[in-house]
Amino acid sequence: MLPPHRHRSSLEEPLRLSNLPANADWSGKIAYLDRDGVLNRWREGYVNSADELELLPGSGYAVGLLRRNGFRVCVVTNQSPVGRGIWGHETLSLIHDGLQEQLLNEDRDAEIDLILYSPYPPDQGAWARKPRPGMLEAGRQLIEISQINPDQPISISYGENWKKRPSEKGSILVGDRESDILAAETFGVRGIQCNPETGIAGVIDMIIPPDLEGQN
Ligand SMILES: [Mg+2]
Repeated sequence: MLPPHRHRSSLEEPLRLSNLPANADWSGKIAYLDRDGVLNRWREGYVNSADELELLPGSGYAVGLLRRNGFRVCVVTNQSPVGRGIWGHETLSLIHDGLQEQLLNEDRDAEIDLILYSPYPPDQGAWARKPRPGMLEAGRQLIEISQINPDQPISISYGENWKKRPSEKGSILVGDRESDILAAETFGVRGIQCNPETGIAGVIDMIIPPDLEGQN
């Protein structure tokens, strides 16, 4: 098993979630978000540093809006340059620090609850690499356990070994590629494909209708 990796942490370390904004309750909804072409602009030859990270307009507002409407936000991103030896985990950590900073600059509620990534090249067949659902499985279990009892030891199960799965009703995945949507289907969550030029801002109305935006 080639498991997902987690931003600046070992995978099964307890996750400390901050409160949702405006005292929004968590009803079990998770927004699983791909990164490139969803939050930031996709780049030929990868995003290789925080300087190369260009937020798509409105991403911060969309993430803030999701959290104001009771979603936990989990980024799930394939990052094979790590496994290819192009750059390492620390470079990716700096890129993800920059992503979080840029999102918060646009909207103070745009906190990412959890960032998971798959460092594996495609030929390794990793369960953690989309279109396979390993990152989604790990994201759900980490957030669910942390929300209920943050001190409970975490042991993540995958595939057929994960028996008692919580409902993904109300959850969504946003991605710009077919592999994202396939991962959503295999996992059992509503998948929404966005245009990589407009990213999540172009589909946020499909998740939170504009007439509900002001209610929280
Ligand atoms: Mg993408």
